[in-house]
Amino acid sequence: MTRALFLVCLLALAPSAQAQFNLRDLNINKLIDTAKNVGKATREIDEKDEIAIGHDVAARLVGAAALVNDAHTQSYVNSVGRWLALQSERPGLPWRFGVLEAPQVNAFAVPGGTIFITRGLLEKMRSEAELGGVLAHEIVHVVKKHHLKAIQKGAMAQLSADAAGAALSNVNSEARSKLVSFGTEIYSRGLDKSDELEADRLGVVIAARAGYDAYGLPSVLQTLQAMNASDSALALMFKTHPTPAERLAMLSERMQPTLDAYSGQPQLRERFIQQVKVAR
Ligand SMILES: [Zn+2]
Repeated sequence: MTRALFLVCLLALAPSAQAQFNLRDLNINKLIDTAKNVGKATREIDEKDEIAIGHDVAARLVGAAALVNDAHTQSYVNSVGRWLALQSERPGLPWRFGVLEAPQVNAFAVPGGTIFITRGLLEKMRSEAELGGVLAHEIVHVVKKHHLKAIQKGAMAQLSADAAGAALSNVNSEARSKLVSFGTEIYSRGLDKSDELEADRLGVVIAARAGYDAYGLPSVLQTLQAMNASDSALALMFKTHPTPAERLAMLSERMQPTLDAYSGQPQLRERFIQQVKVAR
């Protein structure tokens, strides 16, 4: 490759680094370093860094809302979640599931295997299959690294390429703290719609593999659809997800055979009511 072509490729790879270079006094060593860092920022983030980033993001999120003060409910939701996660493609992650003391209706996943559901959403559920459907949707976000990839993409757009590379691999850097703030913001902006619909489709499969009635998630979506859309408890969920109607239509179009084949599996209504001590 000629040097000119190499530079064109390099600059195309590193749009945010481009502005830093004056083409008349190129420092070739600096360019080589930057090329290495671009590689670092665009490569797959390894599992150790994924878990560390998720740990920082989870700490910020829990700082904004406490966990429900009921060890029994927490332990039940955690065991349902872990059972589901064992059926996923990444059973070995340090999975943990918690209920947040928040009246809003929502659930979200943090890179590395931490998943939260709000008390507001738990109160709307009627069976373990419904809880399983929602947790399985969140498990897919972790398995497919939806948030991690959004954080990485955002870091590439906002930080220079070398800073993004450093932030993704250095726990204590200032850039890392910016990255975690960016990661926290994703939860108020939402993922791409295609990621949400993928989480619905594959979530239904994980719930069915775990032995639940595959209609758990559709059933929760129907509950949400029946609620008043202007209810402030739904605002964030509706802002960050496609509408329940759109999600139900996609599931019906793409997943009907799976839903029907596994619709006879247990819903576990009684066990859910007994185990979850929330206002209803
Ligand atoms: Zn989602």
